[in-house]
Amino acid sequence: MKITFCGAAETVTGSCHLVETNGLKILLDCGLFQGRHEVEERNWADFPFDPATIDYVLLSHAHLDHVGRIPLLVKKGFQGEVITTPPTAAIAKVILMDSAHLQEEEAAYHARKAQRRGEEARPPLYDVGDALDALEVFHRHIPYEKPFALEDGVEVVFHDAGHVLGSATVELHTEGKTLLFSGDLGNRHRPIVRDPATPPDADVVLIESTYGNRTHRTIDDSVTELKDAVHTVIGRGGNLLIPSFALERTQEILYELFLMWQHKELPSCKIFLDSPLAIATTRIFAKFPGYFDDEGKKVFAHNPDPFNFPPLRYTQTTEESKRINNLPEGNIIIAGSGMCTGGRIVHHLRHNLWREESGVIFVGYQAQGTLGRQIVEGAEQVHVLGEPVAVRAQIWTVNGFSAHADQPILLDWLAHTNAGQIFLVHGEEESLVGFQEAIQQKIGKKANIAKWQQTVEV
Ligand SMILES: [Zn+2]
Repeated sequence: MKITFCGAAETVTGSCHLVETNGLKILLDCGLFQGRHEVEERNWADFPFDPATIDYVLLSHAHLDHVGRIPLLVKKGFQGEVITTPPTAAIAKVILMDSAHLQEEEAAYHARKAQRRGEEARPPLYDVGDALDALEVFHRHIPYEKPFALEDGVEVVFHDAGHVLGSATVELHTEGKTLLFSGDLGNRHRPIVRDPATPPDADVVLIESTYGNRTHRTIDDSVTELKDAVHTVIGRGGNLLIPSFALERTQEILYELFLMWQHKELPSCKIFLDSPLAIATTRIFAKFPGYFDDEGKKVFAHNPDPFNFPPLRYTQTTEESKRINNLPEGNIIIAGSGMCTGGRIVHHLRHNLWREESGVIFVGYQAQGTLGRQIVEGAEQVHVLGEPVAVRAQIWTVNGFSAHADQPILLDWLAHTNAGQIFLVHGEEESLVGFQEAIQQKIGKKANIAKWQQTVEV
């Protein structure tokens, strides 16, 4: 069996690994590169394989950096099948359509700029038509723990990765060996999703390393910090911005705000969910209560809809979004993108970042090169929509809501696999090196840092 690391190798985005076995070519994920310019440019390069020769994509979950290049794969000739879990298939639909719209908008923006300079414009990476074509190849939707065959002698099982709704660890049996691809692994004791499932034994393990060198504060500490931020900012009449990933983090934050409201701990304010994408993904959550943890099931069973409580407003249109900034302050605004690289949060940052009474609470990972990372790292001034803006608002970084496992959880998960060979993927350099050292010290095993475009024989 051969594995080629085609993305999320020596970086966190662009997850894509090619497995060649038994005459089959299988991709584990086919995600978009995001973040720094040179990383994003990789989206435009040819795939290091011929898409027409790929038989299957086994999709771990619907985050854009795992699913986002499937329309491009189809556009370039892929005729195989994408297989994933039922919630991931549902969420991938809205994520890919949104991504195609963004690609079209970005291309139109660059085309205007290019026209002014008399230069040739670049077409979108893919458009809405390509995304629709891609959705046609999502065939089998397979629940957790139900083995299925790709063909004779090649069998797959999805396990709950506990990262986002429907997220899977992929177990692949072939050539008498077991290959385990962790996908993104979740933190423990989070609201709504279950903890990552205990993994099976495996000969070869590809494990994510996002927080391979860190230990998170507990979720309880993070809920306390969220409450503190809400009371501090709303109490002094400011706006509290929550840049949030549309999938999972948004629903967890809404869920915590709902519990605060239910326990009469929420100060008088309005909460705006200002993201059409997050509104769409929130609706999908309500369709899959069978995938929630026990506490989540209980809360949903006893309440008509925790994602629909009196202070909460869903702002679908751009006009409604703009009106938020004309309202008196004292609101909570949840909007994407999670790393402030685009989307409506950028406009809210321009209106609020310079106000001392306002606040921003970061609840997710901020990649290198993003506006979110600059703010988190304490920049006194940042550029928002091309204009300099002073950072005077109070900034909170709460990593207990992280959808990613930290080092102790990753080590524990890895130890359970009794892995023969270990490859570290999906991490920035510091995390990869820190995690590699920790594996050597705590489990006594040698782990390899997967190199981008490297092929290994296992
Ligand atoms: Zn993810």
